[in-house]
Amino acid sequence: MTPLSPSPHAAIPLLDLKRPLGQTPGLAHALTQAFARVLHSGQYIMGPEVAAFEAEAAAYCGVPHAIGTSSGTDALLLALMAHDIGPGDDVLCPTYTFFATAGTIRRTGARPIFVDICPGCYNMHPEACAQAITPNTRAIMPVHLFGQTAHMTLLQAFAKRHALIVIEDAAQAMGAETKDKERAGSMGDAGCFSFFPSKNLGALGDAGLVTTHDAALAERMRVLRVHGGAPKYYHSMIGGNFRIDALQAALLRVKLPYLDAATEARATHAAQYQALFEASGLAQAQTCICDQTTTQAASPEQTPLGLPNNPRGRHIYNQYTVRVRHGARDRVRATLGAQGIGTEIYYPVPMHLQPCFASAGGRAGDMPHAEAAAQQSMALPIFPELSTDDIERVAYAVIKACA
Ligand SMILES: *Cc1c(COP(=O)(O)O)cnc(C)c1O
Repeated sequence: MTPLSPSPHAAIPLLDLKRPLGQTPGLAHALTQAFARVLHSGQYIMGPEVAAFEAEAAAYCGVPHAIGTSSGTDALLLALMAHDIGPGDDVLCPTYTFFATAGTIRRTGARPIFVDICPGCYNMHPEACAQAITPNTRAIMPVHLFGQTAHMTLLQAFAKRHALIVIEDAAQAMGAETKDKERAGSMGDAGCFSFFPSKNLGALGDAGLVTTHDAALAERMRVLRVHGGAPKYYHSMIGGNFRIDALQAALLRVKLPYLDAATEARATHAAQYQALFEASGLAQAQTCICDQTTTQAASPEQTPLGLPNNPRGRHIYNQYTVRVRHGARDRVRATLGAQGIGTEIYYPVPMHLQPCFASAGGRAGDMPHAEAAAQQSMALPIFPELSTDDIERVAYAVIKACA
């Protein structure tokens, strides 16, 4: 037996943050210049870089107001605090999401009410929201998971019927659009973004943003961002330090103009994956059932591989997540890993099964679609700088491992 022979190919990581520097002419230089600009300005907190980034990000998202924050998590917390959500309030959110969605709700003292997802698009199912609502529900927090907008037409109609505040968790969805071309973060009372380095628009550290159409709410969030002091040292509200760094704002201003080209590259990769997977006969696109009045899929899909649904609008593929059925996910993932292909599981444990929320009484089996997704989902490399050869190699490795 020969020992493990080295892979004949270079590794394909899930994400490589250094590659844009080599492959985008002028980017590294422009970032270095932005750093020097801030360095020599002597203004490291707030100031013109923050104001300019907020104006540019607001225009990009199609809203009049944007408030830069220290992270996506703090963007969510700030939006909740600005709406006075706290003890005694319930907030609906999907159980299948990154922890910060539920964590920030709980940190205000409110109670997250977990909702199951659509098995096709992975976003919170409108009918499941209707079943979960409580007398104390004040807000709903849809997440545009993986970069595809939730079914906002139905979710907003539901919110309107029950007079609920809508806070979009758009952390994975900068630039995503509904089929009516409405941008993520422009539909709710507030939209919250993350610029964590792995997001489609990534800072060189932590940063976030809240967007809104409401001038009074924007002003309230600006005050809460600096401890609730207005004027400084005079506090009618208790806020926090939720500021974006001037440096991150300056760096993000350099990166924002590249975002649409990066999104197109992601969409091209996704189309290539879909064509290769469908040609294998092992895979089909999942069906979104958000517009059905039942959360049950009419005919369960059974191909070994489930592909992202054909999107409702502009999916920005922050992640390209496939579903590996029949209990094969972990084996397939290990096979890819042995070939140097990076994958990730978003997310292995839904919120209703997290130990920190156990007192809410969530049990295995309560949220079947989220639990199935947690057991089957696997994110493949989709970052813009991948080549068509890279995508082909990943696709063939997945097909071979699933066959
Ligand atoms: C990344 C993310 C957040 C949190 O953003 P941070 O900037 O890491 O604090 C919140 N919600 C979702 C859905 C995310 O993916």
